[in-house]
Amino acid sequence: MLKVNDLKKFCLASDDRLAEPISDDDFTYATDGHIAIRIKRINEITKKKSINNFPDLSLKPWHEGKWVKMPKYQCPTLETCPVCGGARFIKKCPECNGEEEIIFSNAYNDYECECQTCGGEGDIPGGKDDLLCDWCEGKGKTYTENCPFVIIHDDTRLNIRLLDKIKNLPDIQLFFPASEGVVNIKFEGGVGILMMMRHCEDW
Ligand SMILES: [Zn+2]
Ligand SMILES: [Zn+2]
Repeated sequence: MLKVNDLKKFCLASDDRLAEPISDDDFTYATDGHIAIRIKRINEITKKKSINNFPDLSLKPWHEGKWVKMPKYQCPTLETCPVCGGARFIKKCPECNGEEEIIFSNAYNDYECECQTCGGEGDIPGGKDDLLCDWCEGKGKTYTENCPFVIIHDDTRLNIRLLDKIKNLPDIQLFFPASEGVVNIKFEGGVGILMMMRHCEDW
């Protein structure tokens, strides 16, 4: 059975609405917007849904097809995370206050300039009291490519970041509906969906 801590990695720390697992009726959910999972309700989790388009996990795959085991895939090389610089944590840039730009003004005009302190990112590397870096999920290292993917099950592209998150779920199996744009998953004690990766922009 998954515990509260196991669910955290399926949450999105940088979004208040998704930063914690959520309980609704008989189930507890966690999602980062790319993966959503649902398990039997954990009573100590009391946060409620606060987004309208929460993925519907009550639907079972209705297409012909079969469940397949987690595919084996080759992991690309890891590099220092470009967002946190390997620090694992980030904090709001003190110069631009997260705005990514600096505005200068004189009597005649205003000038906008990319913030040089954060390189226009809005964040700078932080310390352990700051936000865990979402990009590398606090690992400090990440894949070189922006959206590394593997092609599995015919021509379905799945993002390796997504696969990495689910690969250790107990007894994980995947189901590929013909056209729904999602991949269903099931594991011991729960179900979930993954958004399929067709283009980089999806990530
Ligand atoms: Zn990072
Ligand atoms: Zn800045």
